[in-house]
Amino acid sequence: MSGLPKTADVVILGGGVMGASTAYHLASHGHKNILLLERESFFGTGATGRCAGGIRHQFNTEVNIRLSQKSLTMIDALEEETGQSALVRKCGYLFVLSDEKDVSVFQNSLKLQHSLGVKTEWLSGDEVRRLAAPCVFPDAIAGTFNADDGLADPNSIVMGYINAARRHGAVCLTDCSATGIELEKNKVRKVRTSLGTVETETVVNACGPWSAFFGNEIGLDIPVSPLRRQWFVTENIPELPAEFPFVIDFSQSLYFHREASGLLSGMSNHNQKIGADQSIDQEWEMRHIEAALKRMPLLGNSGIKARQAGLYELTPDAHPIIGSTLVEGFYLLTGFSGHGFMQGPICGKLMAEILIDGKASTVDISMLDYKRFAEKRLIPEYNVV
Ligand SMILES: Cc1cc2nc3c(=O)[nH]c(=O)nc-3n(C[C@H](O)[C@H](O)[C@H](O)COP(=O)(O)OP(=O)(O)OC[C@H]3O[C@@H](n4cnc5c(N)ncnc54)[C@H](O)[C@@H]3O)c2cc1C
Repeated sequence: MSGLPKTADVVILGGGVMGASTAYHLASHGHKNILLLERESFFGTGATGRCAGGIRHQFNTEVNIRLSQKSLTMIDALEEETGQSALVRKCGYLFVLSDEKDVSVFQNSLKLQHSLGVKTEWLSGDEVRRLAAPCVFPDAIAGTFNADDGLADPNSIVMGYINAARRHGAVCLTDCSATGIELEKNKVRKVRTSLGTVETETVVNACGPWSAFFGNEIGLDIPVSPLRRQWFVTENIPELPAEFPFVIDFSQSLYFHREASGLLSGMSNHNQKIGADQSIDQEWEMRHIEAALKRMPLLGNSGIKARQAGLYELTPDAHPIIGSTLVEGFYLLTGFSGHGFMQGPICGKLMAEILIDGKASTVDISMLDYKRFAEKRLIPEYNVV
């Protein structure tokens, strides 16, 4: 196991999907002096390891659709690229619409998705009821379904990238907390850590929900807030069809998908206060179970086997911040607001392009810059659950 080096060309803070993908994409392009620091004892135990594993094309902004198109292709190719399968399961994503006001928004999203080559289908209420069974949606008006959406395994993607980055010479450390950044004339010079200090001129902040921590010391407002979300997994439900899709009851922000022989269900609490508490909110879980039982009566035959709470890393417009900041050498790759797992592969690659070439080229992400908040160029996204 390597120790903390004294210098690094790039120091990546955070060993979730974003940090891991960035380390791999830099190291595989021949950059040898890459250091990734993760404060926990394992990689990918932050938001990435607590996520629901969903991967989808169905968004309503062009940039999110394009990021998903590239990222899902990279997830499919992960084994070829790194030797580690992402354990993809293309069960499809079904958005169920039961509120009239969502219908026209989703119709417009569908048009945008089609214009970009994404083959999402429009479904009638009856088609939704057939596809969602044994979920019950008597009130479904319409829905959208994409058979190329589905699930992948967060740990496999993180470790696929970490192991491949190490093979290319990157140093990726666990149990090492970044505690501060030192500047000289507004330029990054050092990273302080729990294991000592590293000299560097380039830092990538990929600390997910904890990204704002470094802002105070270097005089930078990092508009990323932690927001709790939670889910549970049931015991075996033998009646659940093998091809049951990822079902999203959009108006309730309630979702279900198969997890092994049981069901994973989550529901977003829209009154959840900003904060880094990752304990289970038991009161919310009761409301969630009540709503879930109405949609999926089969849950009544099964107990809860596991539960998990984690943090979204929320920005004011639910889009990430990727690129440089007002501090020279300090880059942000954060703020994915609930859909960063699926975008990790491409966004780490784009971050590497920015560091190597000065500009991301695989996807135009110029609108995801840090300055958009000060310049009031926020990007609305409707399909975030
Ligand atoms: C309940 C839930 C469900 C979700 N479902 C989905 C989904 O279905 N699909 C999807 O695409 N996305 C989903 N997401 C969102 C997704 O998990 C995140 O957007 C994504 O994982 C963010 O990755 P990251 O690498 O930026 O952050 P993280 O995975 O949180 O990684 C950041 C890392 O930084 C480390 N760190 C923090 N501070 C320091 C420090 N000072 N020094 C060193 N290390 C530090 C942390 O320990 C952590 O490992 C979900 C999130 C939650 C909470």
